[in-house]
Amino acid sequence: MNNRNARTEEDTTTSRIVGRNIKRLRTARGLSGRRLAALVQERGFRFNHSSLSRMELGINAKGGQRAVTVDELVAVASVFGVEPQELLTEPKCVACFDAPPLGFACRSCGAAA
Ligand SMILES: [Zn+2]
Repeated sequence: MNNRNARTEEDTTTSRIVGRNIKRLRTARGLSGRRLAALVQERGFRFNHSSLSRMELGINAKGGQRAVTVDELVAVASVFGVEPQELLTEPKCVACFDAPPLGFACRSCGAAA
């Protein structure tokens, strides 16, 4: 087993799901990328707007795949006030994608922000 190959063939499927979920929640809550990055920074992370964009897109600075760290996951989840686990899976509701706008409840699944 060649470690270098293992690295380049790293499976970031879950990181991509997390990235899409973060973008979806951020948009639903009306947060700009800069605002969300600032809120994550307040939790002690070196985390700027570019970091957030790359996390949402799943692409690192060199154009490769970007994995989300568990610490980033926990920090972003705490900003949104959700459990980290909620960011790890694809949304179940096709109406609101599990993220109704802040202050609203979904008529299909009953989820509330
Ligand atoms: Zn819903």
